[in-house]
Amino acid sequence: MNRPKRMLLENIAWSRETAHADAQFFPRLAQGQSPKVLWIGCSDSRVPAETVTNANPGDLFVHRNIANLFSPSDDNTMSVLEYAVRVLKVDHVIVCGHYGCGGVRASLLPLSSDLPHVNRRIAPLCALGERHRDELDALSELDARANRLAELNVLEQVRLLRQHAIVRGRDEPPLVHGWIFGLNDGLIKVLASGYPEESEAQDIGRMQAASLRAA
Ligand SMILES: [Zn+2]
Repeated sequence: MNRPKRMLLENIAWSRETAHADAQFFPRLAQGQSPKVLWIGCSDSRVPAETVTNANPGDLFVHRNIANLFSPSDDNTMSVLEYAVRVLKVDHVIVCGHYGCGGVRASLLPLSSDLPHVNRRIAPLCALGERHRDELDALSELDARANRLAELNVLEQVRLLRQHAIVRGRDEPPLVHGWIFGLNDGLIKVLASGYPEESEAQDIGRMQAASLRAA
């Protein structure tokens, strides 16, 4: 069986199972959406927003691109942010990067002439890497440099989002959070909490430690 056909069959199975488990699920879905969270993540197939946060359809408004970049010059990114903040009135904007990110890694390597769009897209990452060149050069392994740059990238996108007029312009601006996902253990680390104090990050750290102990 070809892959699209298998996917369509899986869709039928999912639809039936979901309706069976909760008869009101699809009627609710059809009424409209009111997600509380805008998720800005990487396109990487291994970091699906709903799956890694145990979320359901309707929970997250999602924008994904290579290396989870917030690009004010890009109408795709900006229309998603505008709609999420002004129409859906999300309470939270979460930038979630991940370790082992190919887009971030590519920005530390010679650019490929075959990928002009990717090159333009990751240009801000190359510039960010340059700004942190001393710190990155202190790491001997390329993977370690890429992982540190992935963290710095999340923090940079958080900074850009927090200062953007669309975010700041609302009476009660959404909180902007910076997270990073670990492919090795499936856990998310909080790099920047949107709350004034970092107590939430500490709470989550304790929760994660407890879940590891329980496992
Ligand atoms: Zn990635």
